[in-house]
Amino acid sequence: MFICEVCGKVFADDDCPTCPDRGNGKGVTVERIKNNLRSCGTMGDVNTTAMHYRHHVQALDLAGGKFRTEAIIIRNLAAYMRWKILNPVRE
Ligand SMILES: [Zn+2]
Repeated sequence: MFICEVCGKVFADDDCPTCPDRGNGKGVTVERIKNNLRSCGTMGDVNTTAMHYRHHVQALDLAGGKFRTEAIIIRNLAAYMRWKILNPVRE
């Protein structure tokens, strides 16, 4: 699933099937957004990442259906990462 930064649309494919050069690499996959959130180690990282992708996630949300489901998952993941940072596992 891909959010194209050229046309602003979302696609089930992992690149843009409508823009020249398939979006010319300008855009991001849902998987990359999730992986970037998962790799956050501080509250600042989570906030910066969530802020950086806020328009991408909004595009997913507005597209509805399975795209909206992914927007919800990404927002839940950001909330989970914040919780995880605030509640570190004690060894
Ligand atoms: Zn496009």
